[in-house]
Amino acid sequence: MAGPDDDLPFDPDALRARYRAERDKRLRADGNDQYLEVAGGLARFAQDRYAAAPAPRAPLTDEVDVLLVGGGFGGLLAGARLRQAGVGRVRIVEKGAQVGGTWYWNQYPGAQCDIESYIYLPLLEETGYVPTEKYARAREILAHAHRIADHFDLHRDAVLQTEVTELVWDDAAARWTVRTNRGDAMRAKYVAMATGPLHRPKLPGVPGIDEFEGHAFHTSRWDYEYTGGGPEGGLDRLGSRRVAVIGTGATAVQCVPHLGAAAEHLYVFQRTPSSVDERGNAPTPQDFAAHLAPGWHKARVENFNAILSGLPQETDLVDDGWTDIVNRMVAIYREGRHGALERPFAEVLELANMEKMEELRARVDALVEDPATAEALKPWYAMFCKRPCFNDEYLPTFNRPNVTLVDTAGKGVERITRTGVVVDGTEYPVDCIVFATGFEVGTDYERRAGFRVVGRDGRTLTEKWAADGMRTLHGMHSHGYPNLFVMGMNQGAWTANYTQLLDEAATQVAYVVDHLESHGLQTVEATREAEEDWSRTIVEHAAGGIGGGIGGSDCTPGYYNNEGRELDGPPWAAPYGGGSIAFFSMMQAWRDAGDLAGLALG
Ligand code: NDP
Repeated sequence: MAGPDDDLPFDPDALRARYRAERDKRLRADGNDQYLEVAGGLARFAQDRYAAAPAPRAPLTDEVDVLLVGGGFGGLLAGARLRQAGVGRVRIVEKGAQVGGTWYWNQYPGAQCDIESYIYLPLLEETGYVPTEKYARAREILAHAHRIADHFDLHRDAVLQTEVTELVWDDAAARWTVRTNRGDAMRAKYVAMATGPLHRPKLPGVPGIDEFEGHAFHTSRWDYEYTGGGPEGGLDRLGSRRVAVIGTGATAVQCVPHLGAAAEHLYVFQRTPSSVDERGNAPTPQDFAAHLAPGWHKARVENFNAILSGLPQETDLVDDGWTDIVNRMVAIYREGRHGALERPFAEVLELANMEKMEELRARVDALVEDPATAEALKPWYAMFCKRPCFNDEYLPTFNRPNVTLVDTAGKGVERITRTGVVVDGTEYPVDCIVFATGFEVGTDYERRAGFRVVGRDGRTLTEKWAADGMRTLHGMHSHGYPNLFVMGMNQGAWTANYTQLLDEAATQVAYVVDHLESHGLQTVEATREAEEDWSRTIVEHAAGGIGGGIGGSDCTPGYYNNEGRELDGPPWAAPYGGGSIAFFSMMQAWRDAGDLAGLALG
């Protein structure tokens, strides 16, 4: 008798088994502990290579209304929304020499946004800017960060090349004292933490990493003095150099084509291949802006998020690789393919995912000439287990005679010697190692932020959350830490387009600050009951993995699923399992109600 699987061009059971086997190959007991912190003898990997050491300045002891830790899009959005609310002194404190955050640090060759620029770049209508390409490049995005800072006059009080070392709440004065590595002890009525989720570079815990005598750097601190060229490529000093790249995530996918084009020889050390779909970049059509009605930006942002959240829209405004998977699922339903109507929804979603991944594996065969290399570059896991990548040059780079893929069969690099990189007993001698090994995600909040946050009773946030699990109201307010706003996705929303989430958080910060200021109030803090209720809601609705189901435990390990390790306890730090759309509308309703439910005001 014919079953619903009979018309499938692939065998779902065989694929499930293959995915599990590939995951099992990569599971390791040490989880996040496999990575090295960029500190101590490795601190050089975090040094700013884009600016000279800062000129000396006198320590600051003045007071501002709102201090924003971080000058990336989170801090800039909070600053913009606070300005719109008419708040007085707003100060960005930023470690880099310019605002821009991730786009200041990630100036590696080929860096480009992988979410459409018309929705990823924030505040386009407010600043009157239209990106030049569907996927803008690093310099343009960094320039947009400057544009926002200029437009909202956020440079005025900004303090750059300054790292916060400690935030201490002074209960008597109802102010935060903000200490920095420049000797400052500034005061602030409110502090918003916009430190970014992927902020601290990490290195693989490979033996011998410190013994290497050649040149080495992390992709987020690219050494153009050594490679020549710039973010657009043209690495003209690598012609006589053998280069290793360790890691094949979204960053490597963008920089490998430039390294391959320039190096005498490039070795790409791979543990898990990325899924690489076509980029399809294009210049912005000349008449693009002519068709835009006021409110277009928010509408486009929400259209993309709705599709990614599984809510089909009449028009797919972005229409790219991200939305393709959901549209494909809808098409399977509409056309009744794969016996869709006889299957549960989750299974149709899985089949659509398999169909897409089969297509991406076929794409590898079509673009990579050597069959063994092509086989090794195929991703054997479900779409969204890892960050999907989009690039037209990455796979063809492996056809170059000067480029070698060194696949480690899921094990990773074995060791590093004085002169090279070892895999499976073979040493690959190189002059330079580029670590494309990503950023800390699963470590303590304060370790990632880089400073201690000391609340009313002298307890740090890490101590509080390590003892009881993360406790916040809406991911933003924590009892014992008055006038502090945490901007991030833990206990909040997860969106693929991260700037949407940041703008929603910025809107919330501005709303609460404005409410206090216009009512002559001094303090705001989550009540114990409210944060307990919210945190329990998070745990009860946690859907497993980041973004509600993405990166769950069946996935190959990575930062989306805590490196494949079960959590020690309940998933206190998960995003809201009801999804971002429900979360954002809940926050809007909360603001509309105007009673600041769950917050104690003083
Ligand atoms: P990732 O954490 O995504 O990738 C790190 C890479 O290093 C992985 O391929 C990992 O393998 C590999 N690795 C780790 N340890 C070893 C080892 N011992 N031996 C060999 N390989 C190893 O970092 P990225 O910097 O690539 O990306 C981080 C995030 O930044 C992305 O997920 C994305 O969210 C964002 N990003 C966004 C871009 C954009 O355009 N907007 C562009 C670039 C990045 P394994 O997979 O097996 O763990």
